[in-house]
Amino acid sequence: PALKRLVVVSNRLPVALRKDEDGWKLKQGSGGLVTAMAPVLKNRGGMWIGWSGTSDSGAELDGLMDDFTEEAGYELCTVPLTEEDVDGYYYGFSNEIIWPLFHDLQSRCRFHPRYWRTYLDVNFKFAEVVARRSSPEDYIWIQDYHLMHQAFFLKSMGVRRNTGFFLHIPFPPPDIFMKLPWRAKLIQALTEFDLVGFQTVQDRRNFVGSLHRLMPEARVEGRGAVVTINMGNRSFRAGAFPISIDYAQFSDMAARPDVVQKAFDLKEALRHRKIILGVDRLDYTKGIPERIRSIQTLLRRYPDLKGKVNFIQIAVPSREEVDEYKELRTEIEQLVGRVNGEYSFPGWVPVHYHYRSLPHEDLVAYYAAADVGLVTPLRDGMNLVAKEYCACNNKGDGVLVLSEFAGAAAQLQKHAYLVNPYDVEGIAKALHRALYWPIEERKAHMTRLREQIRRGNIFRWVDSFLRAGIAKSLDDFPEA
Ligand code: UDP
Repeated sequence: PALKRLVVVSNRLPVALRKDEDGWKLKQGSGGLVTAMAPVLKNRGGMWIGWSGTSDSGAELDGLMDDFTEEAGYELCTVPLTEEDVDGYYYGFSNEIIWPLFHDLQSRCRFHPRYWRTYLDVNFKFAEVVARRSSPEDYIWIQDYHLMHQAFFLKSMGVRRNTGFFLHIPFPPPDIFMKLPWRAKLIQALTEFDLVGFQTVQDRRNFVGSLHRLMPEARVEGRGAVVTINMGNRSFRAGAFPISIDYAQFSDMAARPDVVQKAFDLKEALRHRKIILGVDRLDYTKGIPERIRSIQTLLRRYPDLKGKVNFIQIAVPSREEVDEYKELRTEIEQLVGRVNGEYSFPGWVPVHYHYRSLPHEDLVAYYAAADVGLVTPLRDGMNLVAKEYCACNNKGDGVLVLSEFAGAAAQLQKHAYLVNPYDVEGIAKALHRALYWPIEERKAHMTRLREQIRRGNIFRWVDSFLRAGIAKSLDDFPEA
């Protein structure tokens, strides 16, 4: 079956808008998702529907969007939202309910009924735009937890479309999902998509577990990566599609002479000591305080490492206006201060902490310079940093120490060093072993990791989701 046009729907458009003294500026976003979708959208013709990130509107912004369409080869379509909309649907329902709940942190949830109502209103606004701007031959691909009611509202308007939904974050186990006051309505809305995609098979199982509790008529047919779920009078598909990165882009950049030089300069500035690297958005799901404590434990337990190792933590500012994130930042800064206060001596400061985002070249140079990539989220849908670290390790002698609760662990478990992110002593032990690991073993494991990520790259991810989405039967999707 041929896919005519692709319509991608996400909370934000894949562009960054900025206003300076001469007016608005628009830049294409640089994430892996945009990079992978752009060629498909361009080749098949298509459209990206989302919020622009500002409640401003007008001819100037419309003009910029038209210029973008001309250049990129696909259309941008804005869903206008008021500040109140964004507050209840984005900051409220998405960030204060679904984000913590789906990362198993239900004590951080604020279940305000107002958030739910605004979330539904905004989903309806999005669905109206999708209905108006798409046609029955299009494939509609909805991204992530902000927009779980798209298929539900399209159907309630009597609009028939082929719809796929991909959840970028984890789906929690039933005992946690059941705490959501609107659990029955939400799960039913998910069953209205034609295809629901998750990061891992475990996420899909968690979803099916909640579905069985709330809609006992659901019957799972088949096994493997994609299954059919029969609801009696209709059916839909659910599958695991682990997202990935543009491997070649990272690996090629790490091989560029200027980036190799940057990585060397960094090593030299640290006097060629071993480098342990953490890179995260500053978010409570990332396990950053636990990670710093594990560095403290490492230095306490293994005094041989004093003066021989540096831990670099890049924390990218995120949701800075939210109190919880401000508190987390303070906690992290105090912990860094404590460890450095305890162990530094003239010429050596164990923890280097950067609270800012890095230019892409610098990030790649940090990845390339690091001996150990330390990725310890308490829970994570996938975690792209783990994959990016490996892709940039062209020398192939680094070690990936990875949380068993990151989606990436389901794929990379054989060749990464898995740790429990809450087990500070266990992480310290893993780091000590990683630092003393013989080079042949490090190389053997890193080579396999890189090969796996190179093959399962973001282009493969787009391709396999779309093939499952438009396949008439699962026989058209053999590797399922
Ligand atoms: N990243 C970035 N700027 C930086 C450091 C990192 O944009 O200064 C990117 C990084 O390359 C990665 C993303 O942020 O692609 C983080 O993705 P991940 O899946 O690890 O976690 P998320 O932030 O989506 O929870």
